[in-house]
Amino acid sequence: EKSRIGVTGLAVMGANLARNMARRGFPVAVHNRTTSKTTEFMKDFGDEGPFTGAETLQEFVDALETPRKIVVMVKAGKPVDAVIDELAPLLDAGDIIIDAGNSHFPDTDRRTAYCAERNLRFMGIGVSGGEEGALLGPSIMPGGDVAAYSEVEEILTTIAAQVDGTPCCTHVGAGGAGHYVKMVHNGIEYADIQLIAEAYDLLTHVAGLSAPEIGKIFEEWNSGDLESFLCEITAKVLAKTDDTTGGPLVDVIADQAEQKGTGRWTAMNALELGVPLTGITEAVFARTLSSLADERQKASTTLGGPTPGGGENRDDLVEDIRQALYASKVVAYAQGFAQMRAASIEQGWDLDLGSMATIWRGGCIIRAQFLNRIRDAYAEHPDLDNLLMVPYFTEAVANAQDSWRRVVTTATEQGVAIPAFSSSLSYYDGYRRERGPANLIQGLRDFFGAHGYRRTDADGSFHTRWAQDGAEVRTGD
Ligand code: NDP
Repeated sequence: EKSRIGVTGLAVMGANLARNMARRGFPVAVHNRTTSKTTEFMKDFGDEGPFTGAETLQEFVDALETPRKIVVMVKAGKPVDAVIDELAPLLDAGDIIIDAGNSHFPDTDRRTAYCAERNLRFMGIGVSGGEEGALLGPSIMPGGDVAAYSEVEEILTTIAAQVDGTPCCTHVGAGGAGHYVKMVHNGIEYADIQLIAEAYDLLTHVAGLSAPEIGKIFEEWNSGDLESFLCEITAKVLAKTDDTTGGPLVDVIADQAEQKGTGRWTAMNALELGVPLTGITEAVFARTLSSLADERQKASTTLGGPTPGGGENRDDLVEDIRQALYASKVVAYAQGFAQMRAASIEQGWDLDLGSMATIWRGGCIIRAQFLNRIRDAYAEHPDLDNLLMVPYFTEAVANAQDSWRRVVTTATEQGVAIPAFSSSLSYYDGYRRERGPANLIQGLRDFFGAHGYRRTDADGSFHTRWAQDGAEVRTGD
């Protein structure tokens, strides 16, 4: 009997996705470039379900029913192209290649066109949830041709996480849409993590709490509005004792954050689209600043500033930080969703943003209670410009904002860096201003570059001859 689907690339993600499929009864053919990994896989997991281990790509392709459905789960970048090039000559018209790795969405568009020229169908699907998600139920963001999706829909929706009986998997849009949405998901993850790190920093240095004490606070927070996988694991990471020192493990982890690039892609895309995406972008910059360890070491004894600690009542401060975290998180999601909306319009993807919130409720790293509210917001207002404008979020942020402002003030006075908290608040204050200070920017641009400006009291564009006779001239409609 032929296999329903194939998986090539048996590192953690591919192996676990294949196991997830087979455990649910789908016959799966497995393959890996280095044959010994396939052999090992079959030895370790071969009896978990209906697997066929293939040593060569030809054997792999021959083991599959047609049209073939091949999940490629190899290292993102050139390896994906290499695998497509090796597979293409072995496949028949209509076969489907599914890239389930973290590919950059323009690459997915390019590969879709490349495969189409060879009469092959290509799908780029975002998979979130790490190793455990891949095995037990990830959040899946499939993009590409709808007819191709319908061929794998049953398998993908079955292996995905389920929340209230709804699979965390739905067709996202054409071409690179799935990988795009996965990219923004990862960007939001960066913002969420940065906000948590800032809360931890304030609780440590302003409130004077220890890691296990802060872990308990996150555990409490995890039963309220902030309920989320990231809060849950923050509690666990902070509670962990180090075997070597006997103190909290987190206290001896080096403070330099690494990144694989999806946050940077999200920020760069926001710059290209012209969407204000301050939370995610600050989160990327915060990681890059953290990596300047040697410079920070020198600066720490050279650059003056206050030493944080004490002041406010500790319980009030903890509650203020909780509220600031919530409000900033709302802003980060509002920005990420506004970005997806702008991209959808530009690319013609017709993204259903409520569905994106729905499929992120389970399986993925940013899964959170809060996403139910986002889903509801888009169900009621599909063309929403900004999540902050639905009554639920408008009120939530209004209620939190006194605390939010106190936290930003306290952190600033005490010298604790809070790029994500403070930029989110500035975004909020900028967004709610009917008239901001860009009038002056336009005046300056007109002065030095004759770039022109519009007036609030007349149509058309104008230029003032600032340095000549000072007269204003009309320059266009
Ligand atoms: P890796 O990204 O570490 O990739 C290793 C796999 O790629 C191995 O099977 C390797 O084969 C194969 N490979 C590398 N180069 C080639 C090539 N030129 N030709 C053929 N095969 C090649 O594996 P992961 O499982 O960590 O991730 C897979 C994908 O999933 C990546 O895109 C990753 O970004 C994404 N992802 C990962 C998550 C995670 O938590 N790790 C979460 C979500 C997505 P060989 O054994 O022969 O070297």
